[in-house]
Amino acid sequence: MKVKIASIQRNRYEDGPGIRLTVFFQGCNVKCKGCHNSEIQDIRNGKEYEVKELCEEILSYNLPVKKITVSGGEPLMQEEALEEKENFSDKAIKNFIH
Ligand code: SF4
Repeated sequence: MKVKIASIQRNRYEDGPGIRLTVFFQGCNVKCKGCHNSEIQDIRNGKEYEVKELCEEILSYNLPVKKITVSGGEPLMQEEALEEKENFSDKAIKNFIH
């Protein structure tokens, strides 16, 4: 399963409790007026990963506390990839929030 990612950012304080790594999914169909992330809306852009490859990249950062936030964009546009990530993360990465 492939997934399109806009960016992966470490040391985020504004995306949930604690210091987090945030995965910004590419693509959004919500069309908020005054979108602050318009460059993320087109699903054709972004970097393509296999979900397993994405999870392995996150693990490679060796985060002391594995606090991960999934954001976007609209991550639910890639819902199947989210489900696959959950299966992988059950074993490897705890504390995912969306
Ligand atoms: S990227 Fe965020 S702000 Fe922009 S349209 Fe989508 S949900 Fe709204």
